[in-house]
Amino acid sequence: MTGKVYLVGSGPGDPDLLTVKAKRLIDEADVVLHDKLPGPEILGSIPEAKREDVGKRADGERTSQEYTNRRLVELAEEGKTVVRLKGGDPFVFGRGGEEAEHLAANEIPFEYVPGITSAIAGPGVAGIPVTHRDHASSVTFVTGHEDPTKDESAVDWEALAATGGTLVVLMGVGKLPMYTGELLSAGMAPDTPVALVERATWADQRVAVGTLETIVEVRDEEGIEPPAITVIGGVAASRERVKAFLQNGRNPVEER
Ligand code: SAH
Repeated sequence: MTGKVYLVGSGPGDPDLLTVKAKRLIDEADVVLHDKLPGPEILGSIPEAKREDVGKRADGERTSQEYTNRRLVELAEEGKTVVRLKGGDPFVFGRGGEEAEHLAANEIPFEYVPGITSAIAGPGVAGIPVTHRDHASSVTFVTGHEDPTKDESAVDWEALAATGGTLVVLMGVGKLPMYTGELLSAGMAPDTPVALVERATWADQRVAVGTLETIVEVRDEEGIEPPAITVIGGVAASRERVKAFLQNGRNPVEER
């Protein structure tokens, strides 16, 4: 009997933000295939015997997507109940879509289990709503790190600068100078508020704020590293207005 694969979102990292269903499926699974993004607390709570890391290997190389795809099919064909655990939501820049297609092509039954995406929760825990009646009536989720094998950028930063809405950049720590530069050249105001939310909801979450003009310097001074979310737009200034009273379940939110 063929098993089943659950493409499960872990949420941003705080174990309390796993869905009830994700928690149950993890407990019941034979195998949990994961990378590092679900974070140390959630991963640490899963018995080592049923965890398989398909993220960065010890030698720093990434496990290929082909290997992960193959492994999912292989385990399901052995009759296993497999949880493919992904940070945030599986279908937001998580290659969950590719895995779903691969499973379907191999006639493996699968289920998508949504998770709380860091694209919304990351800004949120820093006191930044991704939309706001007065500041942003649209929000765009964008990758700062495109497939390096693509010749041309699929992201039209100039068009994004023109939306006037919030821009939430995932995988955007390394290329911050590139896209802040593009947005500035496209005419976005240099004093547009920008926030970086590092390891949102993890025990050591940090927030750093600046403007389109200063944020690269802020990143360097604070040593912000992935995983982090970049929020660009008027909403990023909301943080200043609410932070004194913002009490998230865990509110270490280091300040710059
Ligand atoms: N599927 C995930 C995103 C995967 S892409 C989701 O829905 O959240 C990986 C990127 O997600 C990271 O580079 C970072 O930009 C962002 N990310 C994921 N978890 C994060 C967290 N806890 N804090 C900040 N950024 C996070």
